[in-house]
Amino acid sequence: MKEHIQEQFKNRFGTDSVVYASAGRINLIGEHTDYNGGFVFPGAIDKYIMAAININGTDKVRVYSMDMDAYSEFGLNEEDAPQEQWARYIFGVCRETIKRGGVVKGFDTVFAGNVPLGAGLSSSAALESCFAFALNDMFNDNKIDKFELAKIGQSTEHNYCGVNCGIMDQFASVFGKKDCLMRLDCRSLEHEYFPFHPEGYKLVLLNSKVKHELVDSPYNKRRESCERVAAKLGVETLRDATYTMLADIRDQLNDEDYRRARFVIGEKQRVLDVCDALERGDYETVGRCMFETHDGLSRDYEVSCEELDYLNDVARECGVTGSRIMGGGFGGCTINLVKEDRYDNFIATAKEKFNKKYGHEPEVINVIISDGAHKVED
Ligand code: ADP
Ligand code: MG
Repeated sequence: MKEHIQEQFKNRFGTDSVVYASAGRINLIGEHTDYNGGFVFPGAIDKYIMAAININGTDKVRVYSMDMDAYSEFGLNEEDAPQEQWARYIFGVCRETIKRGGVVKGFDTVFAGNVPLGAGLSSSAALESCFAFALNDMFNDNKIDKFELAKIGQSTEHNYCGVNCGIMDQFASVFGKKDCLMRLDCRSLEHEYFPFHPEGYKLVLLNSKVKHELVDSPYNKRRESCERVAAKLGVETLRDATYTMLADIRDQLNDEDYRRARFVIGEKQRVLDVCDALERGDYETVGRCMFETHDGLSRDYEVSCEELDYLNDVARECGVTGSRIMGGGFGGCTINLVKEDRYDNFIATAKEKFNKKYGHEPEVINVIISDGAHKVED
């Protein structure tokens, strides 16, 4: 990919270039925990946005997107925002860097990627992190710290792309490390690396390619349930709640709020259990926790859907080690940890059965935990 992008760059702009990349991400476990002050557990994957860049001595950014086959040109002031959505990610990163006192000058760039768009792997965070990292390296002697780079990406989504996202995606894309997952404490923002190199297993996503649009803002309703229970318990967030505390106030809660809180409390513990298991290299426990998360998301938190529950059932039938819905819910992917000798049968069965029932095959996305934002050396 690197040589190809650099060649395109040379053809278009006539100079050599330096290449940067950043990754999409998965989240192994820790769902709907961020706004409850809990933990998430993401890792960067071997799917990248890659950009060839060279300083051009002007006050303009000139950018060609290979995947969109489209060109955009913009200045670096607030009023220079480009129309194209894909270019706004890059413009936003420039602006957010400048707002933080960083230096950005005109540059030329050609970029491309292989992070599937809109599949829940955060291609947008990969794009932001790639350019945030590059601008830091090219213009700022790498003086902007990594957490700030992640925040530059997050603010780009908030201020230039209309997406009110948390910090996990950009964090994972910037901090990602080969063969490591990262436990991010969403309350303190502390993070810790844990080894993840499941020898003899594969990590594979099955994209259902369905997205159920729900009218009654289910995300806000889940949040409200959690906040109500936390308030009744007198804690700031459900991070500080336990099953025992919940049991003590059960008769003061409606069944729905009770089950929402039960999921969140369990999910916090499962992330910690998975971290312990990884330190022992115990991938069977990891898998069991993933299934438990799926059940919790489906029955207690009620953010699954028929198609994803079906993919989860098929995974169980095929002897997959762990499987769960990944992301906010109501569609998208399942993430599956599967022994190599069961992989072929699982994929074939899932494709066939899902196709028979829903009229299309799920998209198969194999992932390997890899490095996040970096300069691509020769
Ligand atoms: P995701 O869940 O993958 O982050 P988003 O809708 O948040 O989905 O971001 C997808 C958007 O990011 C695309 O519509 C496009 O504007 C931009 N993008 C992602 N990957 C690329 C790419 N390879 N080339 C150009 N733009 C991209
Ligand atoms: Mg996104």
